[in-house]
Amino acid sequence: MSDQQAPEPFEPVDEDWQTALAVVAHPDDMEYGGAAAVARWTAQGKKVVYVMVTSGEAGIDTMSPEACGPLREAEQIASAAVVGVDTVEFLGHPDGVLEYGLPLRRDIAREVRRHRPDIVITSNFHETYGGVFLNQADHIAVGRATLDAVRDAANRWVFRELSAEGYEPWDGVRAVWAVASPEARHAVDTTEHFDKGVASLAEHKAYLAGLGGAMAEPREFLEGFGRGAGSRLGTRFAVPFEVFPLR
Ligand SMILES: [Zn+2]
Repeated sequence: MSDQQAPEPFEPVDEDWQTALAVVAHPDDMEYGGAAAVARWTAQGKKVVYVMVTSGEAGIDTMSPEACGPLREAEQIASAAVVGVDTVEFLGHPDGVLEYGLPLRRDIAREVRRHRPDIVITSNFHETYGGVFLNQADHIAVGRATLDAVRDAANRWVFRELSAEGYEPWDGVRAVWAVASPEARHAVDTTEHFDKGVASLAEHKAYLAGLGGAMAEPREFLEGFGRGAGSRLGTRFAVPFEVFPLR
């Protein structure tokens, strides 16, 4: 096991925490980048919980959403298990048409209060991944809502219905980390866990079969992942994060 935390020029992320909650729009969002870091952390004995805002039901052109949603949930659960994640929540928002707004913030705040994490992870929510490679609307909505929901979760007087449901405020989140942001200044070395990341992405079998092209080849994609964000530097791999400290 390497004790290297992050390749130059990135700063290492803080690994002095016990529980993380990853909130992303779709099944596969963690696997196209962050899953190897999750494998590292669960190997350290940390707990990581996944929250999927949608079930990715609009993700396969040849399959109706009614058939696709349950299939993609099952693939996500299998994928999470590969990297040591045994809790995967699905919030049931509609894939492809997510809106930033109060209902989304409330539903994410509920999960923050339920799971009481030290760290919250989400997708890059900038307009691009750097250069002209456009981000996707759901990712942008979820990332922005997650940043706000963490503060909502801590405030007793915001979404008072959550307290009525039994979810007391949680102000223990120390930072939100956005995976693969073009503004990333931090990273975690995932060289020792790269194969787990590949295996995790490969569990999205039906999705990858429907996708075709460069993104359907887990190892090849992840070897080039974040090029420009610097996930592969020299012979090592790393997952980059933009860090938003909250306290
Ligand atoms: Zn996605």
